[in-house]
Amino acid sequence: MIGADQLPRVLHGATGRPLTLAQHDEVFGPLGHAPSLDELRDSGLTGHGGAGFATWRKAQLIGDQRGHTKFVVVNAMEGEPAAHKDRTLIGANPHLVLDGAEYLAGVVGASRIAVCVSRDNPGTINHLQHAIHERERRTRRATSLELHTPPWRYVAGEESALVHWLDDNESLPQYRPRRPHVLRIGHAPALVDNAETCAHVGLIARFGASWFRSLGTETSPGSALVSISGAVSRPCVLEVAFATPLRTILARAGADRDPWAVLLGGYGGAWLDARHLDTPYDNDALAPLGSSVGAGVIIVLPKSGCGVVETQRITRWMANESARQCGPCAFGLPALADDLARLTSNGRDAAAARARLVDRCSAIEGRGACRHPDGVVRLVRSALEVFAEHIEDHVRGRYCAASHSSHHVAAVPSLEREAELVWE
Ligand code: SF4
Repeated sequence: MIGADQLPRVLHGATGRPLTLAQHDEVFGPLGHAPSLDELRDSGLTGHGGAGFATWRKAQLIGDQRGHTKFVVVNAMEGEPAAHKDRTLIGANPHLVLDGAEYLAGVVGASRIAVCVSRDNPGTINHLQHAIHERERRTRRATSLELHTPPWRYVAGEESALVHWLDDNESLPQYRPRRPHVLRIGHAPALVDNAETCAHVGLIARFGASWFRSLGTETSPGSALVSISGAVSRPCVLEVAFATPLRTILARAGADRDPWAVLLGGYGGAWLDARHLDTPYDNDALAPLGSSVGAGVIIVLPKSGCGVVETQRITRWMANESARQCGPCAFGLPALADDLARLTSNGRDAAAARARLVDRCSAIEGRGACRHPDGVVRLVRSALEVFAEHIEDHVRGRYCAASHSSHHVAAVPSLEREAELVWE
């Protein structure tokens, strides 16, 4: 048993190699609880993929569907370039993720589990293949475990895109009402949960809801994996208790002690001024600052960097990742990236570009089929606020060394690679 206030939890027993099924049994012990929606609800677990939706509510919605084969879909696509948490987790404890998926299948009455990993992540694919074979060898299973490898794109991991691809279509987000909404593969209702969410379920299945709640807060119970990069001496994935002060988390990664800002939540997240680094890492504390935990990504921007340049690079990349189905996304995101570039080039058009950015954000927000453009709008708005003084310097034509540097903190896959990718 893992002690109630002990960390790590989902990375418990990590050795640098994935635990075999026998090692996993030894480290974590047997599954103690029969699948129970009540246990999930009492745990207060929310999704760790980005949206933070209550796990039990999604499960209840699918459990209430009658008369069909059902799926549990494990989303390990991890489309955020700065995110490494799901592959780190699967590289350590793949069976914990599968335990959680099987528990969820029991809760909703699913007979099929589809585990989805991007096809250009061969290491994670190998780990999962091996883990699935181990489980198949051990018992004849009532629930089938299938590994799927969709193509990698940022939006391919969006849950409606994933389900659409599993239904033999392109990996494009689908038009649908706001949540909650039943996703289907063919006619089969599908519960989609992030890989880390499943691992936490695997622990709740053993140790129960009250154990789970012994870390974190009432509304953000438990722990979370965080991918930390940028101005840090040890880029890493850490498991932290919710409500840990951001400054404490950053110290563990050897972060610059006097940074300018941090990007929280991923490329659809928001910049947070370093004045707020004593804020607890949980959504309730971060929301008044316009920020959130999101996809569990923290990027540290040093004072020698330029938040406008970083935002421009990310926005350009996110514009290229648009599925180009919706006008505000297909045309609006490149226009945002163009205006950010005009700002950083200190040209005569910089002041007009700043004004246009505000208007464009309002015109784009809420008008895509998925939340991809809303994430970019959130990022750009936060940059306009957090870097307002520095933007004024750009508008006045003051020299910014960082905008002429090739050193950046936000990892952006190359545009050459973008050109090679096709939708399928
Ligand atoms: S909002 Fe953008 S990414 Fe989402 S479906 Fe529309 S075009 Fe595709």
